[in-house]
Amino acid sequence: MMKLSEMTGIEISKMIKSGEISVKEVLQDTFDRIDKTEKTFNCYVTVDKEYALQQAEKVQKLIDSGDLDDSPLAGVPIAVKDNICVKDKLTTCSSKILYNFKPVYNATVVEKIQKAGMIIIGKTNMDEFAMGSTTETSAFKITKNPWNESKVPGGSSGGSAACIAAKESVIALGSDTGGSIRQPASYCGVTGLKPTYGTVSRYGLVAFASSLDQIGPLGRDALDCAALYEIISGKDEKDATSMEFDKFSFSDIKNYSLKGKKIGVPTSYFGKGLAPDVKQRVLESIEIFKSLGAEVEEFDLDIIKYAVPTYYIIACAEACSNLSRYDGIKYGYSADSKNILDTFIKSRSEGFGLEVKRRIMLGNFVLSSGYYDAYYNKALKAKKLIQDAFFKAFDKYDFLVGPVAPDTAPSIGENLSDPLKMYMADIYTVMINIAGVPALSIPCGVDKGNMPIGLQLIGKPLDEKTILSAAYEFQRNTDFHKQCSPLL
Ligand code: GLN
Repeated sequence: MMKLSEMTGIEISKMIKSGEISVKEVLQDTFDRIDKTEKTFNCYVTVDKEYALQQAEKVQKLIDSGDLDDSPLAGVPIAVKDNICVKDKLTTCSSKILYNFKPVYNATVVEKIQKAGMIIIGKTNMDEFAMGSTTETSAFKITKNPWNESKVPGGSSGGSAACIAAKESVIALGSDTGGSIRQPASYCGVTGLKPTYGTVSRYGLVAFASSLDQIGPLGRDALDCAALYEIISGKDEKDATSMEFDKFSFSDIKNYSLKGKKIGVPTSYFGKGLAPDVKQRVLESIEIFKSLGAEVEEFDLDIIKYAVPTYYIIACAEACSNLSRYDGIKYGYSADSKNILDTFIKSRSEGFGLEVKRRIMLGNFVLSSGYYDAYYNKALKAKKLIQDAFFKAFDKYDFLVGPVAPDTAPSIGENLSDPLKMYMADIYTVMINIAGVPALSIPCGVDKGNMPIGLQLIGKPLDEKTILSAAYEFQRNTDFHKQCSPLL
């Protein structure tokens, strides 16, 4: 029999439903691996075995009575990024300012995964408030890349990607504001989807940049991500930016052919700064799509030069406003102080880390009266141009393909000293959030140092089906997604 650690969530759920294995046995198997490797990799801020066992007991009964027959991931362990609220459970955003915060309600996605019979095993480490690309800005611990302990797992959902690569969870939830699902998925050799803005409720997701944030799945393959996307997506009354759309059904992605499909390849995604190994693997993947019947054409997406500045202006502007709620009174950390003003100043000075402070300052600067038009307003105009460029491309192509990141995972410590370099590495992912369209990262090989490389599939708004189907087809014909870390 195949080892549980090599199976996808859908396969595990089938075994549970057929009675071959119990929910508790699957959970125990996951705990065993957490016990073995978590000390090395630090994927989690919190692992809550007791809570997981309580959920498992309830879910087993529902499975036994047939109530979860239609749920493709019933009984499957899931890890949740630590910026998604789970009622009465620590939700820290990996920040000192929320070190003791326990929400009094569940995020909508948490309600949905639990209703689908998934078992939350813990909360994953992340960059503080999801600001970063390496998970090193966490106030608590440094997550290691399960393929090589001296490398970062990417970020900000580094813990969510690493726990799957380390086989410490089967599947996970992350959030993506400018690449935070796709880039760590790419660095850790797993599959990750950033859905269309508005398709997954943000209710209970701690806000970073509200017009860009989306929750999405990370898993072993596109089918697992599609199943989890089916579970978490849908309009939610509690999130005014969530929208009504035709229900996505994961099983639809199996009936798709790449024959005659038109793929656009933005030439600007292959410019200066792209590592040769990454370029090579991505070009090889494009050949695979061709061999499966797709037509490939290059096109110009010159607007990419505005991507990083536009993103950082909008993201920081929204962040500085969202983060003003942490005042040392309403939530979490409160510094010893003489008076109310002192409480605000000291709690924020001591509670936030350097990267978060940098963004609060940047955000306030671009919103300040003298600079608003020069920066923030201009960024909004650039946002419109970026959206138009994507929509124009989608008049011609079914989906777009390119790299996720310019290089594979950097070494721990390499990027922290040079924030601009780190921001520039977001070049291929941030535009997708600005345009609000869906994009997926799938493994497409390794570099000379045996570190995973990700391929990005970018779709039309609300057309998760096409990119997930194309990825499924790719993964049926290749086994990059099955390769695993030499350290395990
Ligand atoms: N790396 C980007 C940033 O630091 C993206 C973060 C994210 O998607 N949450 O803003």
